[in-house]
Amino acid sequence: MIYLRGHHLICLHFFTGEGYNKAFVENLYTVIDRAKDEIIFVAEGADEICKKCPHLINNICKDEKEIAEMDKTALELLKLKTTYNVSWEEIKKKLSEIFNHWYELYCIPCIYLDVCSKTSLFKSLRNSSI
Ligand code: SF4
Repeated sequence: MIYLRGHHLICLHFFTGEGYNKAFVENLYTVIDRAKDEIIFVAEGADEICKKCPHLINNICKDEKEIAEMDKTALELLKLKTTYNVSWEEIKKKLSEIFNHWYELYCIPCIYLDVCSKTSLFKSLRNSSI
């Protein structure tokens, strides 16, 4: 079982190998491999990705307030709650229903928009929502 917080359930699908530093990126590859194979436990607060993040201080994200709000929105859109179990494929199937809303709220102002928007999944979700 792998622990992931709300917004990571969505954003992880658009990872292309870029991130804050080498340790963070290497961990992301491992987390994605595990998430595809294992049950995902919907977590609150710092998760398996945060563990290697330079912005995690005393096990709390330095932007926790803002990030927790993003997690809450992600879970509302995905119709999930913390402590639920879910699979990678279940989330992936839901992306087409929720992506337009997520894009407007969070992708447009995100510093990783240029990176994520290069993925074929991102492109196909954008094309189907235009
Ligand atoms: S600690 Fe904060 S910035 Fe770092 S991965 Fe977690 S939520 Fe993102």
